Amino acid sequence: MTVYLVGAGPGDPGLLTVRALELIAAADVIVYDRLIPATALDGARADAQLIYVGKEGGGPSVSQDDIQKLLLEHGAAGEAVVRLKGGDPFVFGRGGEEAELLHAAGIAFEVVPGITAGVAAPAYAGIPVTHRDGASAVAFVTGHEDPAKLEEGGTGSAIDWPALARFPGTLVFYMGVRQLPAITRQLITGGRSPAEPAAVIERGTLPDQRVVCGTLETIAAVAADAHVRAPAISLFGPVTALREQLAWFESRPLAGVTIAVTRARAQASALAARLRGLGAAASETPAIRIEPLAGPAPEIERYDLVCLTSPNGVRFLFDRLAEAGRDARAFGGVGGTRIAAIGPGTAAALRERGLIADIVPERFVAEGLVDALADVPVRRALIARAAQGRDVLPEALRQRGAEVDVISLYETVAEPITEPQREAIAAADYVTFTSSSTVKFFFETAGDDLSGHTRLVSIGPVTSDALREHGREPDVQATRHDIDGLVQALIADAGARRP
Ligand code: SAH
Repeated sequence: MTVYLVGAGPGDPGLLTVRALELIAAADVIVYDRLIPATALDGARADAQLIYVGKEGGGPSVSQDDIQKLLLEHGAAGEAVVRLKGGDPFVFGRGGEEAELLHAAGIAFEVVPGITAGVAAPAYAGIPVTHRDGASAVAFVTGHEDPAKLEEGGTGSAIDWPALARFPGTLVFYMGVRQLPAITRQLITGGRSPAEPAAVIERGTLPDQRVVCGTLETIAAVAADAHVRAPAISLFGPVTALREQLAWFESRPLAGVTIAVTRARAQASALAARLRGLGAAASETPAIRIEPLAGPAPEIERYDLVCLTSPNGVRFLFDRLAEAGRDARAFGGVGGTRIAAIGPGTAAALRERGLIADIVPERFVAEGLVDALADVPVRRALIARAAQGRDVLPEALRQRGAEVDVISLYETVAEPITEPQREAIAAADYVTFTSSSTVKFFFETAGDDLSGHTRLVSIGPVTSDALREHGREPDVQATRHDIDGLVQALIADAGARRP
């Protein structure tokens, strides 16, 4: 088998290549570094062996010798080995050495390039590393040199400082943020203009990316004042000034905002992905889990109205029909059964299964559905919903003289909160609540982790009331009570609070 030297990109999970994800999903063994995207290993096989060899904040790391031994051992054992590194494996990643070693040992290897931090971090900071008017060349340089050697001006240093100072293009330094005073001094001594624009990008492409700007003369002090830390890229050249116009990352509507999403896992990931797309640092902290309840399929044809109150309800109703060997045609009996959906998400879930809802209210709450049904003749109604549902709808229909059956298709149970999720909740600027059950279970399991300054976002009045029951006034309530409405309300609130 093969050892794959794979680049994982600079940190944004979206910058992992298709090939990297394919190999991660197929690997027997993954030997990985610290600076890989947090979610890079999510797609690994459950039985894959994951071996961490990075160093944590300057602490002890697995030595390069031991890493090489690992690669040889697993490579020779015929396993599919992924050696996963931050950025690109051949750019300051020691991938070259590892490839030489594998070659010498006669073990097959492949290289999967990654997006290197020296290009990606500037791009996310709005700095093109080359430009027709100002930078026809770019140099990638390691700043990881002993500061004493840097000071000596070349003796014992691998870097020819005078030559680098004269380099006619953009200089991109990896590593060595602490070395900035020495690096900038050497470049100025070598004849580079002290007034040349400079920038340092910390945690480039990640939601908490920070950029500081100055000149070759001032940037070391600016970075020190801002407490810039590794990982960071330092850039010198006229192109860095383009950031003033091209900084796009920070201008996204939810840039710099940290959000915890409490929905059940399956739905949380879609909402979190959407919030990330708007620039937020979104973490999934599901407070609830949805569990289907066993039971017979209802005889749909006996009803002239079927009400569905959530996408999960649609899913589990169809599961029950399928178990009974039935499908969407159950809704097509003589005269047909009218279908009411509480909101657009539920209507979309029906559409996926070939059914168009006859009634979708303007307000996506039970009261809205009651209003929307006012002129619809109903003799026998089925309400298919969660075990803990509210009784507004069945009671209203019964009052109108209808016969109403309620079936509970699923129940909502507490999802245990992990330690990293607790930290995410404590650090969040916003926590989103999309149902009263998420509120209930969230406060049971994680209420104590909530800090006083965190803003609570509610999808609508019922969820807001649930928050009040727990002694917290919602800071934001969506005007439109669905996910689109919630996202709009978040954007508006974050925009209004931006300094
Ligand atoms: N092979 C990697 C570089 C490894 S050296 C690549 O191609 O990107 C590690 C250095 O890369 C860090 O000290 C820092 O200078 C830079 N780096 C990695 N990720 C970074 C990020 N997200 N933002 C800024 N710099 C980063």
